[in-house]
Amino acid sequence: MRLARYDRAGEDRLAIVEGDELIDILDAVDATGGYYSEMAEKRAWFADMTSLIAAGPAGVEYLQTVADANVARMAQADVKLLAPLDPGIILCSGENYWDHREEKPEVTAKEPEFFIKIPATGVIGPGDDIVWDTKVTQKLDYETELAIVIGKAGRHIAEDKAAEHIFGFTIMNDVTARDRQVKMRPDGSCQYALGPGKNFDTCAPLGPVIVTPDEISDPQNLALSTLVNGELRQNNSTAKMIWGVAELVHFFSTFLTLQPGWVISTGTPGGTAWAADPELGGRPYERPDLVRASGYLQAGDQVICRIETIGELQNQIVRRD
Ligand code: MG
Repeated sequence: MRLARYDRAGEDRLAIVEGDELIDILDAVDATGGYYSEMAEKRAWFADMTSLIAAGPAGVEYLQTVADANVARMAQADVKLLAPLDPGIILCSGENYWDHREEKPEVTAKEPEFFIKIPATGVIGPGDDIVWDTKVTQKLDYETELAIVIGKAGRHIAEDKAAEHIFGFTIMNDVTARDRQVKMRPDGSCQYALGPGKNFDTCAPLGPVIVTPDEISDPQNLALSTLVNGELRQNNSTAKMIWGVAELVHFFSTFLTLQPGWVISTGTPGGTAWAADPELGGRPYERPDLVRASGYLQAGDQVICRIETIGELQNQIVRRD
């Protein structure tokens, strides 16, 4: 199932996405009918995406029965999609594709990188502006990433149980202030500051939809690409991750009790603008086919993050001085 959130006259509404059409979930629930108490429970399940996720398998199973309800369908082109959920938190991994490691200063980590993005003012939806604040950065970069949406709470989740805790998948653009993230030392090594490098308003475009795992035969075999003004920058596969989806769920659950509606972003492959930036230790010779030396994002740029089966997340850069 494909699930989206959209704006209906200022109200956030949830929808099932079928092809190019949306079915409003609450309208479908109302059209399906039932006893009053039952309807109240169902309506509460679908009040927002986190409630839907927290309802567990019963919520999605019920949605399969209402998808055929006799309600008007909306053309996706006629509605404003929002980020599909307000994540409680976004847990991020980095340095998780070999070719991204090769395009930047050398690292020797033995565990996944662990940082967070703060959703409150970071998350934006499809079509929204990524605001390039020049007081924050001169080097705004893109990172297309497969994002895991947690379904069931859990701590110390074994890798072979990870799938039970995953509600679905979406796309995140881990927009990065590269010159805040990376400081070069005189000896050529680098120091990371992932707080300011990864957190600023509009740093986390998310969407366009959440796709449940039954529609994704293998999350470790999805084509992933980034286009900036139509120019191919990243062109890869989630097969190239170092730590896969199950390992990341296990890893983050070592520290925190994962909650329904939390997001784990899985890192980005090679092809970032960083690769073409020797000032920050970039090593462009590894991917000369993909990255221009002037590849950081500029005002007016259109960025498309694309992952097979999930779709395309498109945003544009608006500069604020
Ligand atoms: Mg990233």
